[in-house]
Amino acid sequence: MITIDCTNALVIKDQLLVYVADKLEVLPFLKSEKILLTPIDDSQNIDKSLVLSAITEFLKSVNLDENFQIITKDNDIDMVPLDGKDMKEKLEKHGQSRQDLFFECTHCGFMTLYEVEWRTHKLIHYI
Ligand SMILES: [Zn+2]
Repeated sequence: MITIDCTNALVIKDQLLVYVADKLEVLPFLKSEKILLTPIDDSQNIDKSLVLSAITEFLKSVNLDENFQIITKDNDIDMVPLDGKDMKEKLEKHGQSRQDLFFECTHCGFMTLYEVEWRTHKLIHYI
């Protein structure tokens, strides 16, 4: 079992979990601020170097690879934020891009993930 400690990387925790689990086909568990990775097949071991490269890939994909340092000790991986430049702005932008997933009603702020629901909702303002 491999543990990724996200205590200092909460903002990316959920997405990191999905990304790594998808990539490596492992079973992820969340235990407070830690992601626990266990093999789907008990007889197998998770290759730590694959986990590390998946994390690096993920950080690159969200443009935060300069902002986190990955520290490993045995089977523990610790995500340590670096006070890199633009860190705050990047994280804010990152938070915003998640909101872009939603359709928002410009009249009342109602938000939904579904375009159909959003269109239907908007009709109530035109009665
Ligand atoms: Zn509305």
